[in-house]
Amino acid sequence: MNIAKQLYQLQEVDLELESVEQAMSQIASQLGESEVVVRTQTELGLERQRLEELRRQQRSAEWEIDDLVNKLAAAEEKLYSGRIKNPKELTSLQHEAEGLKAKCDQLEDKALDIMSQVELAEASVATKGGELRKLEAEWQSQQQQLSNEMERLKSIVSEFSQKRESLAANINTQAVKSYQALRKQNGAAVAKVEQGICRGCRISLSTTELQKTRSGSLVQCSSCGRILFLP
Ligand SMILES: [Zn+2]
Repeated sequence: MNIAKQLYQLQEVDLELESVEQAMSQIASQLGESEVVVRTQTELGLERQRLEELRRQQRSAEWEIDDLVNKLAAAEEKLYSGRIKNPKELTSLQHEAEGLKAKCDQLEDKALDIMSQVELAEASVATKGGELRKLEAEWQSQQQQLSNEMERLKSIVSEFSQKRESLAANINTQAVKSYQALRKQNGAAVAKVEQGICRGCRISLSTTELQKTRSGSLVQCSSCGRILFLP
């Protein structure tokens, strides 16, 4: 087999390896934590905290109301018991009862307000929780697909690396070195010749270049420097 053809085959394998490795690094960048999942988890955490705080406020308002209701009952019991005869004392007790009643009404309004806030917060936590579960499920299945694809690409890389090794082992070492230097410089080191044209730079080759290439010797395109391969 002529060297140009061998180098061309080597290049085909190298280009394939390159594109598979590119795909792998793209997948690697997508593997791992999901920004939107983490953000939603944080938001849900904050909403849960808010809900807990509102429930705490609700409980404390209820306890306060209970306390006031008991005090009011005690004051009223005393007021209507007939045990207190002093008019001054009765008036003061009356005022105390009225004050307690007003405070109780005020607190009940506040408790109702907190209760409706609790309901809103509960709904919001439920919605956010559902959203998070959906996002996590999507993320998990996407991660699974990505790691499956990664495994597939890894096996392609190992297959092509072996192929490359056995190809390179059969090519003149000096030629492989020149090929690698050209690959570094140009990306592509070997160009096909089709209808007298170098496919690397699309320039017509001279008769001499074509003859030399046809004879099987290693010729570089005078325009782009690539090794010419005549299929
Ligand atoms: Zn060329």
